[in-house]
Amino acid sequence: MERFKGVTVCEGIAIGPAYVLRENRENAHAAPDEERIPISEPDRVESELVRLEYALEKTRIRMDKMVLDAGVKAGKDAAQIFLMHKLVLEGNEFRNLSRICIEEGHMDVIDAVTQTGEALASKFAEMKDEYMAARADDVRDITREIISVIEEGMDEETPEDETAGEDVYPHILIAESLLPSDVIGLDRDRVQAIVTVEGSPTSHASILANMMDIPMVVSVPLNLEAIDDGTPVYVNADTGEVILQPDVDFAEEAKKSTDPERFELQHAVGAETRTRGGKHIDLYANIASLVDLKMALKNDAEGIGLYRSEFIFLDRPEPPTEDEQYSVYRKLLNVCKDKPLTIRTMDLGGDKRTSYLETDEKRGIAFSLEHPDLFRTQLRALIRASIHGDLRIMYPYVTSLEEVMQANSMFGEVKWKMLSEVGSINIPQGIMVETAAAVEQIDRLVEHAEFISIGTNDLTCDLYGIDRYERANPSIDDDYAKLFVNIRNVVKTAHKAGLKVSICGELAARRDYASRFLDTGADCLSVAPSKILLMRDHIINCCW
Ligand code: PEP
Ligand code: MG
Repeated sequence: MERFKGVTVCEGIAIGPAYVLRENRENAHAAPDEERIPISEPDRVESELVRLEYALEKTRIRMDKMVLDAGVKAGKDAAQIFLMHKLVLEGNEFRNLSRICIEEGHMDVIDAVTQTGEALASKFAEMKDEYMAARADDVRDITREIISVIEEGMDEETPEDETAGEDVYPHILIAESLLPSDVIGLDRDRVQAIVTVEGSPTSHASILANMMDIPMVVSVPLNLEAIDDGTPVYVNADTGEVILQPDVDFAEEAKKSTDPERFELQHAVGAETRTRGGKHIDLYANIASLVDLKMALKNDAEGIGLYRSEFIFLDRPEPPTEDEQYSVYRKLLNVCKDKPLTIRTMDLGGDKRTSYLETDEKRGIAFSLEHPDLFRTQLRALIRASIHGDLRIMYPYVTSLEEVMQANSMFGEVKWKMLSEVGSINIPQGIMVETAAAVEQIDRLVEHAEFISIGTNDLTCDLYGIDRYERANPSIDDDYAKLFVNIRNVVKTAHKAGLKVSICGELAARRDYASRFLDTGADCLSVAPSKILLMRDHIINCCW
């Protein structure tokens, strides 16, 4: 029995045989130098160029299907990931570089695409901007798709095997690392859990696994060479523990704990979220769409702690109009009925870019203030919709007092002008604390906000100086000690000023951290819709 510890991406317990993905992506398609046959004859160059164009077009069509599949299997945010892939594919750089490799480097199409993919991926990986660095995996993913299209085309004798993989038994998938298209292509009925050697909880592949509710642990120091397919594996993604060859007794016990009854949580519907010690906590949901909202309400969320409004600004040629936004916000409020809905104003910039606006380094509220017309339009739509329910708004990625004062004053201006149109306007305005700078200035910020929402995803990255998409989490060494010290300070200061504090971000949905979050004195946890009942059950039964 060999034990390993990794970082949780999506909770759950599974036990089953290993299925090891042994592909070596970096070298999978690159022929050794001595095997490369230069293709200097004009006819051959021309035919490789034709194959390139065909492969690019066919991959584009395949990507369209992946966008649809991702939307159906894992929701709108997931579809967005593949739309970003498409943008890389449709940009001219990939095509032009590949053509140069063929025409001037005399490479065949596979070598040309492989070389272009690696060159572009390395270029992205080296960028300081976290959004751009995260695009390296997207480029690798696309490169792999293009190559598989070329290989299918070359090998007409063996058409694509539609039943490939059907003989693969239910298993624990083990890999060095996974790309988003690996995850979206998984069959949820066969993959009981995922374990990877590399990766972080905030990579696109991890986010997809979470949306598909597949238990997953990353950063597990396994030697894949030493694991045979079929080796029994126990994965406790609640704690990040992975055990190879568990003892027979242990395996029996583990099997019991994976009993589906463990997930029978209907008793938590309608129950109050109160700890064994009698402390009440609001349990809200994080959403990005109407579908998410319906799922959140079905799982008895007490309110919405975070609606990521920026998603209605992405993936379109121009910004949504005031009327379009109004209709989305009104619909959400109508569905929420009397439950509170917290809409975060657009968190654009950073990793969320539009095709119609230039972005520099600014992100979140600073980005909105740089685009005052766009921001005013959103505020107008929010104010108009506010009469349909219990609306609160909050400003994302705050880094200074000036930003909050400017946002408040812009809100005040818009509100003043709309008084006669809407009548009385009562929309609490909060701020998101998700940067170290906001934590440092919290005693002044609380004087200009009506509630606080702590975003642990960004705050963790900022406090520990890590990249949101690529690198491993700090939790193994320090178990988020620094993060919790900062959260405690924010809650204490906010409470002194009479403000309530909510915690959103992926960590808020981790049952093993629930007691620590409650100990900070936070008033609300806001988690993914699928985690509401699990968290309520845990808080009621296991927290004091
Ligand atoms: C966060 O940073 O924790 C958060 C909730 O915001 P997002 O994940 O949308 O950046
Ligand atoms: Mg954030």
